[in-house]
Amino acid sequence: MALVVQKYGGTSVGSVERIMAVAKRAIALCNAGNSLVVVVSAMGKTTDGLVKLAQEISTSPSRREMDMLLSTGEQVTIALLSMALQELGQPAISLTGAQVRIITEAEHSRARILQIKPERINRQLKEGKVVVVAGFQGISNTSDLEITTLGRGGSDTSAVALAAALKADYCEIYTDVPGILTTDPRLVPQAQLMAEITCDEMLELASLGAKVLHPRAVEIARNYGVELVVRSSWSNEPGTRVISPKPSERSLVDLEIARPVDGVELDTDQARVAILRVPDRPGVAARLFGEIAKQNLDVDLIIQSIHEGNSNDIAFTVTTPMLKRAEAVASAIAPALRFHDDAALQEAEVMIQQQIAKVSIAGAGMIGRPGVAAKMFATLSAAKINIQMISTSEVKVSCVIDAKDGDRAINALCVAFEVTKQDISNKIVNTDLPPVRGVALDQNQARLAIRQVPDRPGTAARLFGLLAENNISVDTIIQSQRCRIVDGVPKRDIACTVAQLDAEFAKKTLEKAAVEFSWGEIVIDSAIAKVSIVGAGMLGQPGIAAKMFQSLAQQQINIQMIATSEIKISCVVPQEDGIRALQAIHAAFGLEGSDRYLVPA
Ligand code: ASP
Ligand code: MG
Repeated sequence: MALVVQKYGGTSVGSVERIMAVAKRAIALCNAGNSLVVVVSAMGKTTDGLVKLAQEISTSPSRREMDMLLSTGEQVTIALLSMALQELGQPAISLTGAQVRIITEAEHSRARILQIKPERINRQLKEGKVVVVAGFQGISNTSDLEITTLGRGGSDTSAVALAAALKADYCEIYTDVPGILTTDPRLVPQAQLMAEITCDEMLELASLGAKVLHPRAVEIARNYGVELVVRSSWSNEPGTRVISPKPSERSLVDLEIARPVDGVELDTDQARVAILRVPDRPGVAARLFGEIAKQNLDVDLIIQSIHEGNSNDIAFTVTTPMLKRAEAVASAIAPALRFHDDAALQEAEVMIQQQIAKVSIAGAGMIGRPGVAAKMFATLSAAKINIQMISTSEVKVSCVIDAKDGDRAINALCVAFEVTKQDISNKIVNTDLPPVRGVALDQNQARLAIRQVPDRPGTAARLFGLLAENNISVDTIIQSQRCRIVDGVPKRDIACTVAQLDAEFAKKTLEKAAVEFSWGEIVIDSAIAKVSIVGAGMLGQPGIAAKMFQSLAQQQINIQMIATSEIKISCVVPQEDGIRALQAIHAAFGLEGSDRYLVPA
């Protein structure tokens, strides 16, 4: 006999008939001898409808009143489902978030869960009832007992948090799609259903998966080791299992706010190879990394910075024992990458740097919290450590620094993020996992280039600190390799991607500080798209990046930026090439199949 938490999304409870179907599915599980807690969303598009009503009255309604309004949607569903269960002879009781005691921060419209008291639910379960809980809502930890909501899409988070607090055997998320697909089937009809995905992969695929599963729910599942499965409420297909390694014991207090960063990593024994001034045209990265892959060399970070004029810099890191061979490949290929059309331009130049280290912070809690990366930069700056390369993904920020600063950097970061040395990750290379699990396209980003940023400790901290203070989330960040001396000061360009909606504001914010911090021009390019491959199996497998770049080269698609983390490689390409890029990469990794999946808009 198991304790199960099931969650049904809006479409799954969109009508009385569907609520009856949900009740029958729940009863089947109970009749098999299990205890059941059901979390539900508001019916269909109810929440959107409520938002519209509010907007007819005010363009900026109070967030408190919005929570009061939006929380009513779920309350309708719990009552109806509980009645349906009772009607079919199954004892049941509906409970609001407050009645359960889902205690949250007093932050209206985006509250995070602090704690869930299991007593009342456990009591009702013991009486043989199905407990039907309103998702997406909670009650504040203040004496006023304010009704709060967790943010749109938040009932997934309610369900997984309940599963963690009740120590449920597993949690099922029922939705209107069959599970997690390898990519968006509206863009790539050959997208296939995944049987399983790790939480880490799911988080890196946030832009792909967020519509199916709230990232905060994935974060909780990973932190507490909740068994999670996403499946369709229209069928009995098994869906997609979202798996995680067994986590260490963790307190259920401050459930969602404990730590934005839960690991600090140090990679020593690294070296960097940079090729400066390669032509900005399709096929260059493919050629370089194709050669590297042929030599069976495993590269770690790859970054390609923004182009100046018509040339790019590409840099990558390898472990020191591989450096000689990597350098040989780079030097052999550099002359061939010369500009044929422009004799005046200098040849590509290979630059080697040994004795570097990579420090990284990792944690799902950094999604949507721009202050986290900024805090890392500020911490390194306070320790007077210069950052040579930066590469970021959804759940990780990595900085390349001088090897001699490695230990100091780790110590400082452990203190700053309240992480103990035990949380320093040992990377597990698992060759059983597929190198690429899924491919995502993000068409809502803009690229921001900040020219001529002084190359000294503290600059990145100031720059990203400023954006963070203004609540602007930065996605991919990369720093150029080329260093130019301007009036005696070494300067580099930094590029990052931000949501298109934030681009103008980010530009203005940085321009205002340009004189004070002596950085140069800020340039926005909104006509970009970001394609990413994600797979835990790419760790320690050479040739994955090369294959991605080659599939773009074959399509004559120019890569504007490259950024990587251990389990993700992202390329920024011209916007008009985004969908073609996604299709080509998805096919190149053999993710296509003949099943067809319909996903509602
Ligand atoms: N009803 C809320 C929304 O539409 C919460 C949820 O469905 O997850 O955002
Ligand atoms: Mg949802």
